[in-house]
Amino acid sequence: MNNEFDVIVVGVGGMGSATVYELASRGFLVLGIDRYNIPNHMGSSHGISKIIRLAYHEDPSYVPLVRRSYELWHRLEQMVDEKLLVQTGTIRGGPEHGAMFSGSLKACQIHGLAHEVLDADALKRRFPSYTVPSGTMSVVQREGGFLLSEKCISSYVFAALELGAHINGRERVVNWEPTDLGVKVETDKGAYSAKHLVISSGSWVSSLVPQLLEFAKPEKQVVGWFRPLIPELFTIEQFPVFGLEVKQGRFYGFPDYDGRGLKVGCYHHFNEQVDPDDFDRAVSLNDEVLLRDFIGQYFPAALGSTLALQTCLFTNTPDGHFILDRHPEYPQVLLAAGFSGHGFKFASVVGEIMADLVEHKERDYDLGLFKLSRFLNN
Ligand SMILES: Cc1cc2nc3c(=O)[nH]c(=O)nc-3n(C[C@H](O)[C@H](O)[C@H](O)COP(=O)(O)OP(=O)(O)OC[C@H]3O[C@@H](n4cnc5c(N)ncnc54)[C@H](O)[C@@H]3O)c2cc1C
Repeated sequence: MNNEFDVIVVGVGGMGSATVYELASRGFLVLGIDRYNIPNHMGSSHGISKIIRLAYHEDPSYVPLVRRSYELWHRLEQMVDEKLLVQTGTIRGGPEHGAMFSGSLKACQIHGLAHEVLDADALKRRFPSYTVPSGTMSVVQREGGFLLSEKCISSYVFAALELGAHINGRERVVNWEPTDLGVKVETDKGAYSAKHLVISSGSWVSSLVPQLLEFAKPEKQVVGWFRPLIPELFTIEQFPVFGLEVKQGRFYGFPDYDGRGLKVGCYHHFNEQVDPDDFDRAVSLNDEVLLRDFIGQYFPAALGSTLALQTCLFTNTPDGHFILDRHPEYPQVLLAAGFSGHGFKFASVVGEIMADLVEHKERDYDLGLFKLSRFLNN
């Protein structure tokens, strides 16, 4: 293999796989490198399913990006002839003035998204699986659903390889340095050069970009799958993906897909910041109890046996918004980082944005929210 490329992408997870594809589709000679299997269970993008939703309480300016993501996911589905996005609708519920409900409602109103508002009784009548406190308000938005995340990565990899991209799994980038013509990248198996470098290495980003040490912090999460006692209440037809803000925290969940059980997680879980290369990936009884207690209280008809528990990593920025920008010193190096537990749905559009940055191409999206200067200049 010739060791010179137009672009090298470090990390072929959610963001990297889409970026490699997008660059290859624009005619760039690309090399994607990942230290583990592609896809793997070591970073953030595994766990079978990831929620996609337009009712975006985090900031309404995400909505145009989600819309574009939907288009690109559907394009990928057509390219590989695979179902990758399962539409179930989404429910975002909580106290009337809590961020989950009021922010989701605001996003629907600002962007003219068809939606319904249900109080606790109306929610129970429509979705009998819910047992929520009176005073809980919910926004129902029918375009929400989930992506089959590992399949999305494999699909982008397949499509990129078809276009002539090079993709190396099980090869770790140990260093990179700027050169007159671009960058030189050193791995545990060899050395490569390229005109541009995209760093999409998830929870490991600060080992390659030390400037991000304080701004992209890995955090351990645990999600679980549980056998419903009344399965017909939790099918993809009957049970939209949800986010629920309750006194114990912010939880999210998915219908029983493919007989795997109801999937539930608690956003930020136990707030455990970790070193991705040195932490206990094992799941404890406390992890399981947190999730089972939530299900027992709010979805009692789902509290059958525990089927599976899995560890995953968030990479949090201080404000919860992503970093999509150039390296502060080397403009030929681009960063896609800090996806703060809500990035997967955007992977398709992030691929497009990173390729645009390589090409110095601008679109209508407002990317101001994602600039690195918001941290470095303060
Ligand atoms: C439990 C959980 C639930 C989530 N739920 C949702 C959800 O419902 N909806 C949603 O939109 N988002 C969700 N997210 C967030 C989403 O999964 C992440 O934002 C997204 O997967 C981040 O993708 P990434 O490409 O940055 O990271 P990853 O997919 O982890 O990819 C990074 C890759 O870089 C590789 N790498 C690292 N260092 C090196 C190196 N030195 N050399 C070579 N390769 C390297 C790693 O092996 C890895 O494969 C969730 C996350 C978790 C943990």
